[in-house]
Amino acid sequence: MFKADVIIVGAGPVGCVLANKIATELNLSCLIIEKRNHIAGNCYDEKNKKGVLYHKYGPHYLRFKNNKIFEYLSKFTKWIPGNYIVQSFVDKKLYPFPINLNTLEKFFNIKFKSKKEAIDFIKKKQIKNKSLNNSEDFILSKLGTEIYEKFYKNYTIKQWGVSPKKLSSTVAGRVPIRYDRNPYYVKEKLKFMPRQGFTLMFKKMITNKKIKLSLNTDFFKIRKQIKYNKFLIYTGTPDKFFNYKYGKLDWRSLAFKFETYKKNLIQNSVQYNFPNDFKFTRKVEIKHVTRQKIPFTVISKEFPKSKGEPYYPIINKNNLNKFSKYEKLIKKVENKNVFFEGRLAQYKYFNTDEVIERALNLFKILKKKYKNNSNN
Ligand code: UDP
Repeated sequence: MFKADVIIVGAGPVGCVLANKIATELNLSCLIIEKRNHIAGNCYDEKNKKGVLYHKYGPHYLRFKNNKIFEYLSKFTKWIPGNYIVQSFVDKKLYPFPINLNTLEKFFNIKFKSKKEAIDFIKKKQIKNKSLNNSEDFILSKLGTEIYEKFYKNYTIKQWGVSPKKLSSTVAGRVPIRYDRNPYYVKEKLKFMPRQGFTLMFKKMITNKKIKLSLNTDFFKIRKQIKYNKFLIYTGTPDKFFNYKYGKLDWRSLAFKFETYKKNLIQNSVQYNFPNDFKFTRKVEIKHVTRQKIPFTVISKEFPKSKGEPYYPIINKNNLNKFSKYEKLIKKVENKNVFFEGRLAQYKYFNTDEVIERALNLFKILKKKYKNNSNN
């Protein structure tokens, strides 16, 4: 029997945040059920044999839209600055990416006297199509054909396995476009990495007598043995939860290849993107951010694939229609005290700070609903 006041399926960011809040503020017992042999979901980081801290499921460049989320997480970790600087390898040269004034000058071999001059230059290249709701038309309308073809088109095809025309504009639109010289990958000013890593931060969050953790436990294999007094939180994929009633949602997955080198550093920034070369999309040397003092370093290469663990929802019309049907079922099971949250459960391309914010918002609702009928 898997029994507690609250059962949480998944020990990722959402599961850990909710367990922490439920145990400390509602004083209810929580049991987290996790399929993998570790907590922290895809934020999981660990030290390899040489002691290098690396991100097992791809780089997580934590940043904060909302100061309150930063304050909440600060209870569980100290921070290091988010030194997230990315370059894109195009025609055998490294260019700053996101596109900024330096990228434009280097690529077009022009020195712009002002920001306005660069904007006017790009304006002549922009192609305005009627529908801007796909990634191809969106980038063409902002930057024109040359930049689109060299920096976006093939990267997007490699990453998603479909034409950028078949993907929502919000996909390529995630990356800022700049007419200044800001080199950082993300637009948020608050950008920090947990000083000792994500895993330790989440571990601290769930270190509480009221929280139990069952690793290596597949919810779908023990579903019938579950009993909760109050409610269940589910952070996995909705299609599987509902036995694929409306068919499978598409997910994009990744494979990683890690290489350890006896060198202080290899790259000159944390990430190199390869839109047009190789089968991998990017090479990440996370040590640029973690700043570990150690004579070894790790490079990870990311190979996108269609089968395997779900990493990214594929945002197109077909999947969104399917998800909206599942959404109705999700609403219905709330009456049976079951709540869905997170990137997988909500089929949305959320960042880590966004899912943490959502978990805290869900907690507010749960608190109202269950506080008065708590046994304690
Ligand atoms: N993208 C691109 N070229 C790049 C980097 C990103 O075309 O060099 C597009 C691509 O479609 C990608 C999307 O922008 O899927 C979002 O990129 P981001 O780096 O935010 O993806 P994530 O880190 O979530 O994998």
